[in-house]
Amino acid sequence: MIMKISVAIDGPAGAGKSTIAKLVGKKFDLMYINTGAMYRAVALLAKRNGIDTTNIDALMTMIDNMEMHFENDDLILDGVNIQNEITMPEISEIVSNYASIPEVRSKLVTLQRKMSEKYNVIMDGRDIGTVVLKNSKFKFFLTASPEERARRRYTELLNRGLDVNYDKLLEDIIKRDHIDSTRAVDPLKKADDAIEIDSSNYNITEVTEIICNFIENALQ
Ligand code: C5P
Repeated sequence: MIMKISVAIDGPAGAGKSTIAKLVGKKFDLMYINTGAMYRAVALLAKRNGIDTTNIDALMTMIDNMEMHFENDDLILDGVNIQNEITMPEISEIVSNYASIPEVRSKLVTLQRKMSEKYNVIMDGRDIGTVVLKNSKFKFFLTASPEERARRRYTELLNRGLDVNYDKLLEDIIKRDHIDSTRAVDPLKKADDAIEIDSSNYNITEVTEIICNFIENALQ
């Protein structure tokens, strides 16, 4: 029998967090919660409804009325699978502006904590080890150079048949990292007790193994 565990994976955009979190989650039978997808869903819905980042009241009402859950690692919003839509470059470009709003963060952090109380979870994001799962025993911080991360995003989007430009992706990633790591509330930051892994030096299987071995050893 597995005890109640939660795993936190943080890091900048394109560091491989979601791919690795899904694999580790399968291995330990954890529910994968992609917190970036939740911020993306907020940005998508706000964009659709024409709600800009200054209209906090409208954003709060909008979030209170959103029903979000995960099915097979995909985000379902009000019964519709929006995974494809939220990972489009036009959402990547605006999401950090919505994610910088303290009131938005507070609502989503509450939802994420509720999920972690109910299930054994592996969560990826920016503030999981520092805020959402601050008491977790398993915290990892994945990094890679901006160029390597932009290359990965480029290949991923190209494989989806999208017309993408590497230089533009690199520029967007650098800009997003800057907003995420300099915002006033819960910025992207390695938790003091997180294990940092530079994923440029390892492939996906190797990083997954490092994390799984660490968890296995600690559970023994
Ligand atoms: O992980 P992903 O790149 O999909 O996240 C999209 C954006 O959502 C990030 O760039 C960041 O602005 C925001 N985010 C956040 N806190 C999290 C997860 C994501 O602020 N825990």
